This record gives sequence, structure tokens and C-alpha cells, in this order.
Amino acid sequence: MEEIQEQQNNYWLDKSLETIRRANWYRSVREVSGLPGAIIELEGRRVINFASNDYLGLAGDPRLIDAAVAATKNYGTGSTGSRLLTGHRKLHRELEQAIASLKQTEDALVFSSGYLANLGTISALVGKNDLVLGDQYNHSSLKKGAILSQATAIDYAHCDMLDLAQKLHQHRANYRRCLLTTDSVFSMDGDLAPLPELLALASKYQAMVLVDEAHGTGVMGATGAGCLEYFGCRDREAAFFTNGKLIQIGTLSKALGSLGGYVAGSANLIDFLRNRAATWIYTTGLSPADTAAALAAIAIIKEEPAIRKQLWRNVNYLKQQISSTNLFPSESSIICLKFDTPKAALDRSQQLQEAGIFAPAIRPPTVPTSRIRLSIMATHEMQHLDTLIREIF
Ligand SMILES: *Cc1c(COP(=O)(O)O)cnc(C)c1O
Repeated sequence: MEEIQEQQNNYWLDKSLETIRRANWYRSVREVSGLPGAIIELEGRRVINFASNDYLGLAGDPRLIDAAVAATKNYGTGSTGSRLLTGHRKLHRELEQAIASLKQTEDALVFSSGYLANLGTISALVGKNDLVLGDQYNHSSLKKGAILSQATAIDYAHCDMLDLAQKLHQHRANYRRCLLTTDSVFSMDGDLAPLPELLALASKYQAMVLVDEAHGTGVMGATGAGCLEYFGCRDREAAFFTNGKLIQIGTLSKALGSLGGYVAGSANLIDFLRNRAATWIYTTGLSPADTAAALAAIAIIKEEPAIRKQLWRNVNYLKQQISSTNLFPSESSIICLKFDTPKAALDRSQQLQEAGIFAPAIRPPTVPTSRIRLSIMATHEMQHLDTLIREIF
């Protein structure tokens, strides 16, 4: 009996949790109530929300809610099986065609999440004899996708095209296929990948490029198509868009206010993924509600550029007002403030919460240096931004 007790006290799970706590890396979930938006109720207190990826404020938009409700009434709550086995709804194809139209690609494929889109796509495109070169700050799903693929995975220094060129020069010839992977907007930093230079290197070394536009779609570019549009790559690097070498990934769950992920690219790429991407083949199709909400969001993004313009007015206003040597360079709607220790970031975030501002601390192992991450929304009002400026800077 005593021995069992002893074992329980020393159980590795408890010991690991204790280690995580001691490092101030421990995480837990806070409860939010009401509709998503610029103001939310967090643990019973009204706060201005700087923690959301809902950049355009669409997740609480009545038009998305109505579309989701109508789809649920017409098609039920679940998709009841994988699309290949059970069949899919017209809505699924309509959404894929809307994504392809926004991205100006031949076709698109929706997955249950952006995470699964990356896992499934990378592991379908490359294998044991291949090479994946990824930015060191890439999202977890890109890194895990490379591991799952069993390709040789090598990181290059963050946004460092000299380092990437050197690694391509050194390793490319030893492998069959090569895939370059990068976030377009880096989700925990707010800076942008140098996509024109990256595409030029890919072309020179005959590599495929996977660009993850999770934080770019709906936000960056004249029509909200993302960073490839923002950098003018779609006109200049046309060859990449016709032969399936450029793979655009993203999520329906950030600016599109829904849930799910997508891949956009050439018709043969999408056809190949429908036949080879395990995280698409062996999983249930997107729910009618999520599909319809994302479709409504894309229509709004196309028809109402004013929402995106308002987001950028907010971002530019905030950037003009704040000056701190502790700011990470940002070219997006994500703004991060550096702290020396996880505890310092946590304490500051807690103080801000008490002052009515929800601004989460991001700590290792998510990022190398602790920070507070502010995510700006189109639906923030001037007074929300002024309160933030007063409290934080
Ligand atoms: C959020 C995010 C994902 C995951 O998307 P989900 O749809 O939330 O699974 C993938 N890549 C990047 C860069 C992200 O920021």
C-alpha cells in the first residue's frame, strides 16, 4: 500500500507538471462568455480583447451566424463520415471554389483544421528521400508535418535568405524532392516572410514552396488574399502558380471566423491531395455550420474591403502612438512586446487583465523569448486602442 502511495507521489506526470510550473511555463485555460468581439467577458469581467485572431470581427457577425444556423437546419449538425466514403455537400465544393477564387488558384481543398491541412499536405508531398527546409519560427503544424513525412527536416535562421541559400546549396543535390515551408505572417512575432526572395531561391534550386497564410488571409493584400498578393508575387512568379509547385495553406478559423483549414493550388495538386493526404481522407468532412460560416466570411471579405481598411487604420494608429525599444518588428496586425522572463510577461498580462485589457503572455516553449502578444481587430474602437496605449506603454 505504502509503495503504491509512493509511486503515485512520484508519478512522472506529476513530476513533469511540477517542472513545468517551476519554470513558469504552466498553462491553463480561462473562461470567456458571450459572443466573440472587441469586448468580451473574461472570468466574469468585461475586458478589451487583444487576444483574438478574429481580425475582421466576423466570428460574431450575424451574417455568419445566420449562415451557420441555416446550414444546420438544412443539412444537420454533422457530415456523418469522410467525404470520399459518405459523400459531401454542395456547400463543401462552393467553399473550395470560393477559396480558389480568392487565392486565384485552380482549385482548393478544405480540411478539418489548418493544423491537419499542414500535417496531411507535407506528409503527402515529401517522404524519406526528400528534404524539407523550414523557417526556424514556423508554426508547430509545419514542423510536425515535416517530422511526420519522414523527410530530412532542416531549419534555416528566421527569414534569413542567405542561410536558406547556403543550406540549399549544401544539401539540395542529395535529395529527390525539396519543399520549403514558411509562415507568411509569423504568428507569434508579426513580421513577414520575404516571399519574393524565397520563391526565387525555390525556382533556382527546383524546390516546392508551401506558404502558410493562416494570419495573412483576409488581412494582407488588396483583396485580402494574403501575403503573396501583398508582395505582388502572384503577377511576377506566375510559373509557380500553374505547375503545382506553390502550395498555399491557411485556416478558416482566424480572419474567416469559422473552423477548418484549406490548401489552395493547381488542380493536379488538389487532386493528388484528395488521393494521398491521410488527414483529409480518413477524417470526417467539415460540419455544414462551419462550412457555411466560412463561405459567408469569404463573400464579406470580397464585398466589403472597408472592414480590412478599418483594421489597417487601427493597426497604423496604434503603431504611430507607441514607441518602445521592446517591440518586435511588425508588419502585420500582430504586435509583440518583449519581456526578460516568463514571470515578467505573466505578471504584466495579469496587471493588464485587472485594468480591463486581455493581452496574453506567450512563453517558451512556444517562443524563445517571452512576450505579450497583441492582436488588433477591425472592430476595435479608438477608445479601446487609447486605453491600451495608456495602460501598456
Ligand atoms: C493557427 C495556425 C495554424 C493552425 O490553424 P487551425 O485551423 O487553428 O488548426 C496553422 N499555421 C499557422 C501559421 C497558424 O497560425
